[in-house]
Amino acid sequence: MQHFDFFVIGGGSGGIASARRAASYGVKVGLAECGRLGGTCVNVGCVPKKVMWNAASLASTLGQLHHYGFTSSMPFKFDWATLKANRDRYIKRLNSIYAKNLENSGIMLLTGYASVSQVDSKIINIKRPDESITSVSADHVLITSGSEPSKLNIPGEQHTINSDGFFALESKPTRAAVIGAGYIAVELAGVLNALGTDTSLFVRGERALRHFDEMISRELDFHMRHEGIKVQPKSIPEKITRSATTNLLSLHLKDGVTFSDFDCILVAIGRSPNVLNLGLESTQVEQKQVTNHIIVDQFQNTNHNNVYALGDVCGEVELTPMAIAAGRRLADRLFGNFKDIHVSYENVPTVIFSHPPIGTIGLKENEAINIYGEENIKIYNGTSVNLYYGPFDVPPEQKPKTKIKMICLLPEEKVIGLHIIGMGSDEMLQGFGVAIKMGATKSDFDHCVAIHPTASEEVVTLSPWGLAPESKCHS
Ligand SMILES: Cc1cc2nc3c(=O)[nH]c(=O)nc-3n(C[C@H](O)[C@H](O)[C@H](O)COP(=O)(O)OP(=O)(O)OC[C@H]3O[C@@H](n4cnc5c(N)ncnc54)[C@H](O)[C@@H]3O)c2cc1C
Repeated sequence: MQHFDFFVIGGGSGGIASARRAASYGVKVGLAECGRLGGTCVNVGCVPKKVMWNAASLASTLGQLHHYGFTSSMPFKFDWATLKANRDRYIKRLNSIYAKNLENSGIMLLTGYASVSQVDSKIINIKRPDESITSVSADHVLITSGSEPSKLNIPGEQHTINSDGFFALESKPTRAAVIGAGYIAVELAGVLNALGTDTSLFVRGERALRHFDEMISRELDFHMRHEGIKVQPKSIPEKITRSATTNLLSLHLKDGVTFSDFDCILVAIGRSPNVLNLGLESTQVEQKQVTNHIIVDQFQNTNHNNVYALGDVCGEVELTPMAIAAGRRLADRLFGNFKDIHVSYENVPTVIFSHPPIGTIGLKENEAINIYGEENIKIYNGTSVNLYYGPFDVPPEQKPKTKIKMICLLPEEKVIGLHIIGMGSDEMLQGFGVAIKMGATKSDFDHCVAIHPTASEEVVTLSPWGLAPESKCHS
């Protein structure tokens, strides 16, 4: 039986990052992956999603060219199949780069489905594609098996697709229903709508993104409706049926209302941890009740000695860079002699690739008030029009607005939340994230001279500008 210093179950964002970091310290590392290397992000997540968002953004831009004096004698044609083929080719290339990187790092890749058989002696069985079993042992075992789309569990669900199915679509749906209120639902609804699919978004509550700041959720609702997405609030799906005559799908809601004639119903209601058949049942690795996420402490330790977990399987902050950072820090701690090093799950900047995009970090307004009390919070709001829309031949009130909310903690007005929706907010948040991580105040933001003309300058000139209490370092 092969023995490893470190064995990783799952070759996605967190697993690969942790394995490679560990190998950089000279230890013997093995990794099991049952699917395509790169995990969710590369194959059915961030990467193909961003390609589709780019395509959707291009489609919007094409409709705006005339404002900048461009005319075209022929209508632009869009071919979904070409885009998919080009996207898939790019992802295949990434898969092989990941394989090469593992090889270059000296990591042994074991293709197959891994399960922990004896957690105390750290034996892992890997079921290989030819059904044979390879057993290995390790001093340290990391579980980074990720997550999968959650199910609605209603009759007729077999007629639906999920986000994985979205990326497998060979042609553009004509009329789609997207069920869900989270970021994946709004992103995919936005892509479909911009590329010309008649799109309805069914959300359980009043609006999508209800876990985000109220301003973000409200503004996105406005933009989605303005762009033509039919947002259907208070929708609780009961069943899905397929017409024998038209082959089209109907979505029946609990309140008795039925929406019909969809050629695609996409379910994006959240994600569940990949824990089935991992062998956890027999090992008593602690999991959360209801969700089944693996429970870890701030060092990614499970309740079993030398067994760790991170990334989506723990469900803390389900983002690729979070899994990568947690994976690298774990390897640093175990093999790099950085004794108590671990990642922080606070103030993680997040972008939603909706139309327009959203950038958000830190506390929401209601969270800040709950934690610190209303009297200790000061909110700065900004509304602006991106200069891109300047020459648009439409009345000023019809030009899309960028909205900014900065949440500050008194008395020094430390920025504890920043929420932006509008063109360019996806690219602007990273730098502000650094400042907020460093404890920047409103005054620090004001002291950074604006870059003009940009969308970001609105964040450092929020009114009233230059009147916040002076802070530490203004040179
Ligand atoms: C549609 C969509 C869009 C997204 N967009 C973004 C985005 O824009 N930005 C962002 O930061 N995040 C985004 N995410 C989230 C991001 O993809 C995940 O947070 C990230 O991939 C989690 O990394 P991970 O290492 O925990 O899991 P994964 O990357 O999912 O890796 C888990 C791996 O483990 C393998 N595996 C599972 N069980 C076993 C087993 N028993 N044996 C062997 N291998 C196993 C799986 O095949 C998989 O490859 C998106 C996700 C989705 C679905």
